[in-house]
Amino acid sequence: MPDSRFKVLTSASTSGPGDAGRTGSWRVERPIIDYSRCTPAKTGKASCHLCWLYCPDNVVSKTLEPKIDLEYCKGCGICAEECPVKAIEMVSEEQFVKGGEDE
Ligand code: SF4
Ligand code: SF4
Repeated sequence: MPDSRFKVLTSASTSGPGDAGRTGSWRVERPIIDYSRCTPAKTGKASCHLCWLYCPDNVVSKTLEPKIDLEYCKGCGICAEECPVKAIEMVSEEQFVKGGEDE
């Protein structure tokens, strides 16, 4: 019988989108994915997904075309740093305000 005094603790917690709350309007840059460079999107095969793995807010989907939930994305840029093929570009939010373009 296992000793109940010893629990197995791992770092694999299951956080959900928006653990730090909705981002609001303070994000300075937003990540934009170029699917023509993104490996799973290009090959149609589940692979890579480092953006999903490293996003501290867990707002990137693990899909062939990874989607970012901008409602909760904090714009930290970790996904762009970790993407091995540089498919993610951090774009200034000002660009979207000025152009009136938003997602
Ligand atoms: S910018 Fe940061 S919070 Fe937003 S999707 Fe990338 S890693 Fe996640
Ligand atoms: S890290 Fe880059 S190549 Fe990998 S799934 Fe994300 S966007 Fe695509």
